[in-house]
Amino acid sequence: MGLRSVMRVRFAPSPTGALHIGGARTALYNWLLAHGPGDGPEGGAAAGRGSFVLRIEDTDRERSTEANVAQIIDALAWLGLDWDEGPVSQLANTPRHQEVLAQLLARGQAYHSSAGAEDVKAFKLAHGAECGFRGEPEPSGAVRLRVPQEGETGFVDLVRGELRFPNASMDDPVIARADGSVLYNFAVAVDDLDARITHVVRGDDHISNTPKQLLVFRALGAEPPLYAHLPMLLGPDGKKLSKRHGAASVQELRDRGYLPEAVNNYIALLGTGFDPDEEFFTMAEMAARFRLDRVSRSPAVFDERKLRHLNGQHLRALTLDELTERLERFTGRSGLREAVAISREKIQTLADFWPLAGFFFDGPADDPAAFDRVVGAAGAREVLLQARDALAVLEHFDAGSIERVLRELVDRLGLKPGEVFQPLRVAIAGTTVSPGIFESLALLGRERSRALIDAALARAQARA
Ligand code: GLU
Repeated sequence: MGLRSVMRVRFAPSPTGALHIGGARTALYNWLLAHGPGDGPEGGAAAGRGSFVLRIEDTDRERSTEANVAQIIDALAWLGLDWDEGPVSQLANTPRHQEVLAQLLARGQAYHSSAGAEDVKAFKLAHGAECGFRGEPEPSGAVRLRVPQEGETGFVDLVRGELRFPNASMDDPVIARADGSVLYNFAVAVDDLDARITHVVRGDDHISNTPKQLLVFRALGAEPPLYAHLPMLLGPDGKKLSKRHGAASVQELRDRGYLPEAVNNYIALLGTGFDPDEEFFTMAEMAARFRLDRVSRSPAVFDERKLRHLNGQHLRALTLDELTERLERFTGRSGLREAVAISREKIQTLADFWPLAGFFFDGPADDPAAFDRVVGAAGAREVLLQARDALAVLEHFDAGSIERVLRELVDRLGLKPGEVFQPLRVAIAGTTVSPGIFESLALLGRERSRALIDAALARAQARA
């Protein structure tokens, strides 16, 4: 394995849509391998860091668009999954694909054939369903690769173990259309060969492509890469992960206020055999630990609630300045730092912040039901009046002093704390959620707190 100790891996998305969570997982695992210790006996220090190649498989001209390429690149950049080489366009490699195709034709390892699906069917009727189709060379037509009659095409999948496909039952695969354009499995094999890819890590929907790609390597007398096929991602209900389960694309996760480091962390935990007692990892820690041979063979379940929880941990691991900067970018607002300081323990995503703390900037939320229920309750107006007067005489309007006088008020009135704090909360926030009430009042300041309490009293009066 010495020769392989510097890993060269690639992520090869087809730009036919947004980057989905499954695609992000494939990209992440490749990135982690390139940044990890390698698989050589000497480990990373001796082997050196690997390389991560980004190849855009844009040969499907109808479905590949510039906008999709831009979206994928944007999603990878947001995740911090930077590449060392590329983006390489598969389409731009067309001359090279043609060169290799001509080589195989010249050597008789591939041949022109006009045989279509009907001919293949007839062949199987004549020779038996298990018998791979072999065509007769013709002067023109599509191009098929000759599959050896004997033996088998097999590989040791680094996740699934040994997989074997008897050659006798494999059809000679079509590698180019009659118009000369090459087919997907051929282009992938040539590109992986040219890029000296050592490990192909991709979704297991590609397993059936692998023998065809191996045959191309074999025809070219080249050593193929090692392959690892990742099991499917499922939603918590056991069905294939899709939009029904919530966010399906990386862009949607970003819009929902997840941090890229939390998304990476959560995806890395999915079926990779990390110690279940530990879950919080930085990218460097994940790269050091990630091992293909620990990836589970069974499908992994993507549960957005778990991501949410982990996101909260990552969010609290940021410094106040970092978190403020991210929230300012997320909300498009500025001057959030003090509100962030008193909200950070209560939010799990960036999107949680504004509903909790927006009232500091835009005034109380509009929640008439909460207002009527809490401020309209018997005795609440009296409580607000008393609280307002208690706060008015405070020498220092800081959270500690506010807490002291409000707790004194609770005792004096013989009420439960919530019976005092909740009307105040609704008075200043407009609704029943806010950061800590003492800290919130302190942040609003004496004047604004008083004005908000007065406004709530007037409103309650008007509704009574
Ligand atoms: N372009 C393929 C896809 O988006 C991936 C091919 C590969 O990784 O070999 O699914």
